[in-house]
Formats: sequence, structure tokens, C-alpha cells
Amino acid sequence: MGDAIRHRSAVVIVLSGPGGAGKGTIARALVKRDEGLVLSRSWTTRPRRVDDDADAYSFVDSAAFEARRSDGGFVEWNEFLGFMYGTPTPDPDEGRDLLLEIDVAGGRQVRDRLPGALFLFVDAPDDVELRSRLLGRGDDAERADARVAEAARERLEADDLGYRRVLNDDLEATVDLVAGLIRDHRASNG
Ligand code: 5GP
Repeated sequence: MGDAIRHRSAVVIVLSGPGGAGKGTIARALVKRDEGLVLSRSWTTRPRRVDDDADAYSFVDSAAFEARRSDGGFVEWNEFLGFMYGTPTPDPDEGRDLLLEIDVAGGRQVRDRLPGALFLFVDAPDDVELRSRLLGRGDDAERADARVAEAARERLEADDLGYRRVLNDDLEATVDLVAGLIRDHRASNG
């Protein structure tokens, strides 16, 4: 009875890329225009930054993060530049497609569990632009440099994992492009 009406199974979209490349803005724009898409809210031990939306993360201390991790409460988790980040296990009854904004190491864990997910790597036009965006949003010079170096490493790992690279030089055009990729992916997973 319960399965008289069959829905296609939920699609998972992994959005990775360097901080400052614009993936957070893209993710918010996507869920705003698409009711069938929900953005997973990660847990992090990183302190809140000036430009963080109030609901950007669940900001927790290390003890709370560790407790959830040892309970198996994360789909994936990673340490990034000294702080912990993790995707809470989604509600199986959610019904909507799930957008994960996570780093490439997390993407690797998702790929091992869900090889059919859509993997997109959002990148800035170049490192000079990337660094200036990072400084502009509140990182100090040392952390911005660390992120630019980390971005170079992530780019290689993303290529290795088969991510599709999306260059964000025009926000609106990039959101349109990603929305189209999600549409195609849904159609081929219908
Ligand atoms: P930020 O400190 O700039 O908010 O995030 C740093 C990095 O952690 C970004 O690449 C971001 O995508 C990633 N990140 C955010 N949430 C998660 C998560 O739940 N899991 C993993 N693996 N990475 C995350």
C-alpha cells in the first residue's frame, strides 16, 4: 500500500571548492529557487565568522562534536585547518534532494558511500582573486594564504575523484549552470 506511489530516490549533490570561490552563495541561491532541494547544515568547531549567516552551521564545541562522531551521527566528517566539520546523518523521511557543501576529503567519503552523487568543484578565476575574496570576508593574511595553498591541493584531489570543475566568474551564470547540471542529474537518476 505504502509504495503504491513511487517517488524517485533522493539525489545527493556535493558542492566543494576553496573557501572564497563562492560555493556558499551558490548553495543558498540554489535552495532558494528550488523547493525540492535542501541544504544540509554541518556541525563545526570553528568559531563563528563575521560574514557567517546565523544558520550557516551548528556551532559546537569539541566535546559535542566528538560525542556525535563516536555515536556514528555523521555521514562524513573532516578536520580542516584545525577545526572539525561534519555532515549530520540526514533524516530518511526528508524527501527532498540534499545539497552538501563540504570539502573534497568529505566528498571522498561520500563518493565511497554514494557513488551516484553529483560532485561539483566550484573554483575562483585565479589565486589572486581568491586571496582577495578571503581577506575581504574576514580571514587574516596567514589564514588566507593557508586556504590558497589548500585550494591547490584540493583541486588535484577533486580531479582525481572525478569532480566536475565549475568556474565561478559570474555568480548568476554559475548558479544557472549548476541548476542545469542538477536538473540533468535528476533526469538521469529518475
Ligand atoms: P569554512 O570554514 O570556510 O566555513 O569551511 C572550510 C571548509 O570546510 C570548506 O571547504 C567547507 O566546504 C568545508 N565544510 C563545511 N562543512 C563541512 C562538512 O560538514 N564536512 C566537510 N568534510 N567539510 C565541510
